[in-house]
Amino acid sequence: MDSARETSLLQNVPTGLFIGGQWRGSGSGATFRIEDPATEQSLVEVADGTPDDARAALDACVGAQEAWAATPPRERGEVLRRTYELMNERIDDLALLMTLEMGKPLSESRAEVAYGAEFFRWFAEEAVRIDGRWSVNPNGSGRVLTMKQPVGPCLLITPWNFPIAMGTRKIGPAVAAGCTMVVKPAQLTPLSMLTLADLMREAGLPDGLLNVVPSSKASAVTGPLFEDPRLRKVSFTGSTPVGKTLMELASKHVLRVSMELGGNAPYLVFDDADLDAAVEQALIAKMRNIGESCVAANRFHVHESVADEFAARLAQRMGAMKVGRGTDDGVQVGPLIDEDQRSKVAELVDDAVGKGAKVLTGGERVGDRGYFYAPTVLAGISDDAALLREEIFGPVAPVKTFTTEQEAIKAANDSEYGLVAYVFTSDLKRAIRVVEGLDVGMVGLNRGLVSNPAAEFGGVKESGFGREGGRDGIEEYLYTKYVAVDLS
Ligand code: NAP
Repeated sequence: MDSARETSLLQNVPTGLFIGGQWRGSGSGATFRIEDPATEQSLVEVADGTPDDARAALDACVGAQEAWAATPPRERGEVLRRTYELMNERIDDLALLMTLEMGKPLSESRAEVAYGAEFFRWFAEEAVRIDGRWSVNPNGSGRVLTMKQPVGPCLLITPWNFPIAMGTRKIGPAVAAGCTMVVKPAQLTPLSMLTLADLMREAGLPDGLLNVVPSSKASAVTGPLFEDPRLRKVSFTGSTPVGKTLMELASKHVLRVSMELGGNAPYLVFDDADLDAAVEQALIAKMRNIGESCVAANRFHVHESVADEFAARLAQRMGAMKVGRGTDDGVQVGPLIDEDQRSKVAELVDDAVGKGAKVLTGGERVGDRGYFYAPTVLAGISDDAALLREEIFGPVAPVKTFTTEQEAIKAANDSEYGLVAYVFTSDLKRAIRVVEGLDVGMVGLNRGLVSNPAAEFGGVKESGFGREGGRDGIEEYLYTKYVAVDLS
């Protein structure tokens, strides 16, 4: 990769707070460091938002809310549509920036930018389809009118693993619905979100509508917003423990809440499955985003008659993947986000191996600089291995066997999470039985990828509630007003 291009990109990247349509420094003057996880070197310093900055961002939202709610839906949609076009025009720069701050291979960053932009295209189209209902009272005496109105100023908190798409999945429907927002991006990856804000400004976003406040002190900065009755909604994507804390805070002013939380996806392979497809799709379900995805296949439950072959083929394919800095040619597996994450992955592997698992490939850190971990396949997993219960968030595939269909469903549901499951079978009746028996919000049926802006993404149990994308996505930012119409 051309380091002159990286330098020039970083020299021009926005590093301030974006409040009321203006770039500004932190109220305290402080900054924090953004690191390249492949080299452990500093990329840039970003303004470190304070509680007062967050309040100023909410003030800007409140100032812009009424006018934005009254802006014609088509105009609201056009801002998203123009940003969608700009994102695609600048996809190379956006992808490089994402790879620098987050680590994923450039091809995956490009895919995320394209995927993230699609939420803007989708919700540009949804902005003009917000409607209500008109009906006659059952006794004929009056009329029922229901209308949809924007919920008002929102707080959107996003994680580091998909620095753009986890934002556009919220910003798109919020803008389309007529809401204003404060975005708190992840401390580790704020550059993509700041650049997106700049593109939205260029696309004609009115001042104050979208405000971005990066900070190294997430709870201190967002805390005062939960205390402020002018905030009307929080939408959070991140870990389940933080989600629970935010739900408690949201109860103070009874905020509307959307929670996209952790996962522990089971990947079920039956003896009648197309094994080629099951292995191919497993690479996507496991290795997309270096395994750092809430929908990553976390545990493979494979019928005992095909488990050895599946595990051997998966190990062969994962072991052949090229690990390196995401900017380098042919790299398929970037670094993990930081040392904490890598240590957690290593601990989970060590725990499984200590309890009898066999390493078919990987099982170790790679290199002495950057947070690399080798693609790993483990077989012979014992029931008490921690990685069956915990989100691995790394390139590790534990393969476990089952005998009967009932046993497979029971094992799949044995988790407090319920985001997604993957099912591989060529028997239609079995597919329907298993899909209906799974306690999850989404299922990939003979497919290792479910993310799609046109579909309702979301989980059940401790994976959260609310839906992002699809037809339901905009409803999270609208409330229903019912009007009883008297005709007497
Ligand atoms: P995280 O630690 O929960 O952080 C997510 C966001 O919340 C970050 O912006 C973080 O800020 C902020 N935050 C942390 N503590 C906070 C607090 N007390 N008050 C307010 N904000 C707070 O999660 P992560 O490690 O970034 O992301 C990984 C997790 O996200 C995984 O569990 C993954 O499954 C989940 N995830 C879920 C989905 C989904 O759609 N269901 C999608 C992607 C990821 P800092 O960066 O400053 O800590």
